[in-house]
Amino acid sequence: MSFRSGRHFLQIPGPTNIPDRVLRAMDSPIIDHRGQDFARLVLDIFAGLKTVFKTSADIIIFPSSGTGAWEAALVNTLSPGDKVLMFETGHFATLWFQMATQLGIAAEFVPGDWRHGVDPEQVENLLSADRGHIIKAVAVVHNETSTGVTSRIGEIRKAMDRTAHPALLMVDTISSLASIDYRHDEWGVDVTVACSQKGLMLPPGLGFNAVSAKARAAAKTARMPKSYWNWNEMIANNKSGFFPYTPATNMLFGLREALLMMQEEGLDNVFARHARLSEATRRAVRAWGLEILCLNPEEYSNVLTAVLMPEGHDADRFRELVLQRFDMSLGTGLTKLKGRVFRIGHLGDFNELMLAGSLCGVEMGLTAAGVPHKNGGVLAALDYLSADNTMRETSRITARSA
Ligand code: PLP
Repeated sequence: MSFRSGRHFLQIPGPTNIPDRVLRAMDSPIIDHRGQDFARLVLDIFAGLKTVFKTSADIIIFPSSGTGAWEAALVNTLSPGDKVLMFETGHFATLWFQMATQLGIAAEFVPGDWRHGVDPEQVENLLSADRGHIIKAVAVVHNETSTGVTSRIGEIRKAMDRTAHPALLMVDTISSLASIDYRHDEWGVDVTVACSQKGLMLPPGLGFNAVSAKARAAAKTARMPKSYWNWNEMIANNKSGFFPYTPATNMLFGLREALLMMQEEGLDNVFARHARLSEATRRAVRAWGLEILCLNPEEYSNVLTAVLMPEGHDADRFRELVLQRFDMSLGTGLTKLKGRVFRIGHLGDFNELMLAGSLCGVEMGLTAAGVPHKNGGVLAALDYLSADNTMRETSRITARSA
């Protein structure tokens, strides 16, 4: 490969750009993971994580990808043959369903069109019909990274409450945590699944489960085999700042720094920034005359925008051209959406000028690839970004999540 000057634009929806501060924090000599300095590091991290998950519950950190954290959620709470409701919102919801099936869970997959989130009314109807309380859990992907559609967890919780059904609520926040407002305690979530490489601005390598008291009670009788993923040993050791097996020490250095940065910016400001950048992106897409995959404006993702390619044009060929000409990586269309969409990631360590550059790359790419579109997308985004929307986005976020 020949040298390319300037920074590569990594506009995939995770793994995201890693801030230099985080990289520097990780670039440290390893310390004894059974010593007191390490214990202090871990206890600091748990305190910071609780503010991000908005919980006082136990949070477990696995040296793993998000997929591992999915498995941990299932095997700690369920027994073979248990019925679980899952929803086909896109590629990642499908993978989680396939995993549950492979593990011997009787997962019911409610069909979806990959353009909408989970319908709270449908959750209510399905749980109301289950008079015998056979369903043990409802599993939802908060931000479907393959489609740019966000499910409304607060409303799903309310729908579940109306049925007084005892099913656990499990939520995948792998691409939403620390980018979109999320409330583990307030929304009565039993297991929140997350990982390091998206809103937390770290490399891939840490998986998380936040677990309610109800989930821990379910774990007492769950019969799914588990060893590496067992919560009990983790929680017992974590109390004093330690782990039952070797933790990813340098990832934890990075995590402490990332949590500090979020605290300095203020979590609501982090959410408002994501809201502002995503709105600017959608304005650009509309001005280009292209179609946003997500059909319900209430479910637009603040993390990424999936854009439909006009008929007869291949999204991957366009992405390839953008990479070669402008050194920018855009997200590919996954499975059902292969070649049909490209995804613009606008999450993590990201700001107005980085977005402006990314949108310029897309607009130049559309022209260079001969994709029919109107000019003016970048201008539409710049107009929006040059107005001071900071206050409006912050109050909108606070009002929406109240
Ligand atoms: N769930 C969602 C919503 C994701 O976006 C991803 C990965 O991008 C996963 C699960 C799987 O996580 P990982 O690839 O870290 O195993």
